[in-house]
Amino acid sequence: MKNKKRVYLFGDGKAEGDAKMKELLGGKGANLCEMNLIGVPVPPGFIITTEVCTEYNTLGKEKVRELLETEVKKAIAYVEKSMGKKFNDLKNPLLVSVRSGSRVSMPGMMDTVLNLGLNDQTVDALAKKAGNERFAWDSYRRFIQMYGDVVLGMKPKSKEEHDPFEVILDEMKEARKVKNDTELTVDDLKELVKKFKAIVKKVLKKDFPTDPWEQLYGAVYAVFESWMNDRAVYYRQMHGYPEEWGTAVNVQAMVFGNMGNTSATGVCFSRDAATGENIFNGEYLVNAQGEDVVAGIRTPLEITLEGSKRWAKLQGVDEKTRKKEFPSLEEVMPELYKTLYDTQLKLEKHYKDMQDMEFTIEDNKLWMLQTRNGKRTGASQVRIAMEMLKEKMIDEKTALNRVEPKKLDELLHPIFTPEALKAAKAITKGLPASPGAATGQIVFFADEAEKFSADKKQVILVRIETSPEDLRGMNVSQGILTARGGMTSHAAVVARGMGKCCVSGAGNINIDYKARTMTVGTKVYKQGDFISLNGSTGEVYEGQLATKTPELSGDFAALMKLCDKYTKMNVRTNTDTPHDSAIARKFGAQGIGLCRTEHMFFEGDRIKAMREMILATDEEGRRKALAKILPYQRKDFEGILEAMQGLPVTIRLLDPPLHEFVPNEKENQAEMAKEMNIPLKTIKFRVDSLHEMNPMLGHRGCRLGITYPEITEMQTRAIIEAALNLKKKKIKALPEIMIPLIGTTAEFVNQEKIIRETAEKVFKEKKDTIEYLVGTMIEIPRACLVADQIAAKAEFFSFGTNDLTQMTFGYSRDDAGKFLQIYVDNKILAADPFQTLDQEGVGQLVEMATNKGRSARKTLKVGICGEHGGDPDSVVFCHNVGLNYVSCSTFRVPIARLAAAQAAVK
Ligand code: ADP
Ligand code: MG
Ligand code: MG
Repeated sequence: MKNKKRVYLFGDGKAEGDAKMKELLGGKGANLCEMNLIGVPVPPGFIITTEVCTEYNTLGKEKVRELLETEVKKAIAYVEKSMGKKFNDLKNPLLVSVRSGSRVSMPGMMDTVLNLGLNDQTVDALAKKAGNERFAWDSYRRFIQMYGDVVLGMKPKSKEEHDPFEVILDEMKEARKVKNDTELTVDDLKELVKKFKAIVKKVLKKDFPTDPWEQLYGAVYAVFESWMNDRAVYYRQMHGYPEEWGTAVNVQAMVFGNMGNTSATGVCFSRDAATGENIFNGEYLVNAQGEDVVAGIRTPLEITLEGSKRWAKLQGVDEKTRKKEFPSLEEVMPELYKTLYDTQLKLEKHYKDMQDMEFTIEDNKLWMLQTRNGKRTGASQVRIAMEMLKEKMIDEKTALNRVEPKKLDELLHPIFTPEALKAAKAITKGLPASPGAATGQIVFFADEAEKFSADKKQVILVRIETSPEDLRGMNVSQGILTARGGMTSHAAVVARGMGKCCVSGAGNINIDYKARTMTVGTKVYKQGDFISLNGSTGEVYEGQLATKTPELSGDFAALMKLCDKYTKMNVRTNTDTPHDSAIARKFGAQGIGLCRTEHMFFEGDRIKAMREMILATDEEGRRKALAKILPYQRKDFEGILEAMQGLPVTIRLLDPPLHEFVPNEKENQAEMAKEMNIPLKTIKFRVDSLHEMNPMLGHRGCRLGITYPEITEMQTRAIIEAALNLKKKKIKALPEIMIPLIGTTAEFVNQEKIIRETAEKVFKEKKDTIEYLVGTMIEIPRACLVADQIAAKAEFFSFGTNDLTQMTFGYSRDDAGKFLQIYVDNKILAADPFQTLDQEGVGQLVEMATNKGRSARKTLKVGICGEHGGDPDSVVFCHNVGLNYVSCSTFRVPIARLAAAQAAVK
């Protein structure tokens, strides 16, 4: 253990690691190494590996320091030599930043400490050496503030508290009557430092640490600790990242963006993270450091001239004002701009993906501080993947894998209808930070957003600016609106990552957290008032705006076509109306995997006939009622079969227990009695007799068809007649009749006989025939065990994984809400098995039944029609098991198509 390498060096075009070593060095560190290797200027530094984080958690501070000591000393010496400076030196002191970095980027999760190594002595040396006292003291006050917040834990823990350093800084600015910290004088800064140190002493009863080595180890420990903080834990849970990954620590020589007007700092993207447009963009601040750009303290400026002009147009700023007050980096530092432009091109070409970069300009020299594959919206993922494919930067399989199936959801989400937009009144405009349309009630605090959302209310989280503490609240909101901050503010970046609509930097709104109001001009909006956001234009509207589904064309259509080229599985949809069938076809559904007939029984007069049937005391009465339902069903089936144009349509025979069709409340029963002209008592008696203790395990599924064969007969007749009618119109129809809830082969044989005999009868009557299949839903564990026997009779299987999960676990779907979340929280279950297929248990049954079934019938068609059919992970599982198709709700069809294609190219 002693001899393990724990520290990796980089600098001066050399590095001990590279981009492939993300697991050991974290994403940031691995890319810092890689940038060095390809000749991009990066300040020298070193990385303490993610393995040390795990050691820290098990061995503790002292032991870890012992393990690190020699290597860290050597590493600092390496950086000293490269920079020609010395740590803790009284002539030319080396300052470093301490940065966290896990293998995937977790925005805002871990805090960075800058300017480490300063104390009352080194600050003078720094001032003298740089010939810039202001810069030295600005760095010092920043250091105490960051170190105090992050390492010493003085950052406020609740929303009511203020950051003590911010309070002092604000008071100072007020006293000096200045707006920006850049306007403070050297003496102001010196006084700030004094006050900062005093507050540290007051709160912690300890002096601020002056020894740079102590500062360094303190910061390293803090990074490791932050891996376990609540926010980081929540983020990991949200994304399913394991705790064992750990975070690396990056220690890197400081370069200074706060050395005056020839220095700057910024963030940039090689393409547009919101839309995917191939346009370099980003934001910068002159004479600033580190996180000033993303923190929304000063409003950052656009890097490119084009971006600046677009921004001005959105904000209603005229060209003269723009040029004077909000110039782009391209105008202010044209040569450095050119270098930055070339560097981002080089990085994108090297990584073959859109890059999200951080840079600092120190006295007219550009340094890159970070690069990573940029987070982006679903729309942007699709556009960038398809355009990079066209540019031949990546191949087809890579393009397919560049889009996260779940993210397609955003593209399928509603947008505002043109009519609603026309009638709407925009109350203000901010920056289009993350596209989409959102409408909901105003809330001002993240925890209140969670409360509203728990009550099934849709909310818009309105904040002056967001911070990582707001993550949970953002996650449950429809959209986010902030008064401050640019396109790379915390709100914007996180919202894009979540695929949430966000409007940032809407400067015209005044937020009063105490009163819980938002004022625009003279109009006051209270908590609970409705507003709507357009994340694509930055517009904010009063009230609730109507939305509609977007068109799917261009790059999206091209991506879908690419899916079809590689996929081995079909994707069908679960729907039971001609209208939804048509939408599903547009989304590329290759059939209907589940058409639930019971939904058809509720419309209009049908429910009356249905109730008549249920109330009937003998077969004759039931047949009379069923005869009334037949024409409705036939018409419905005709519509659906026609919409699917010869694609297979799986129609499930009546499944739910009959009590679902009769009223349970007294008033409704009385109404029904009047309508049907029978005594209330009779109805009440019949309804009571339908009552079951455990209806989901009761008289439902094929058990209905077996007790009332005339129902199966009627439904079969409706299906076959519908198909024959279409055939007359030269429209091809391929019905697949599905018997629900089969547990034994005999049940299947009983129902199949009725179906086939009825079909033959209809064929004879109409003197024509059609093709059709008879198969079964597999949703009872016993059916899986005897799947070979069933398959000897059945022509297809469709796994009803909702019921199969319910019965395999013995969890009632209707009652599991009481404990499932607790199970997930306590890691008793990895995920809600009703959302993500339990591959280990339920999946084993699916696999076994598929194999057994195919052993008895080679050509057995097998699919899945539970909610899982649209869950990307479950789709991959279905591919691996060799299913013929998955079937899911209409809006998930494109997601399933992509997941299926990705499974095929893996
Ligand atoms: P995050 O993961 O939150 O982005 P980083 O470690 O990237 O945190 O640090 C945030 C910012 O701090 C960087 O974008 C950069 O501007 C600044 N920074 C970090 N290290 C240095 C350094 N060595 N010199 C100058 N600025 C730095
Ligand atoms: Mg940060
Ligand atoms: Mg960063």
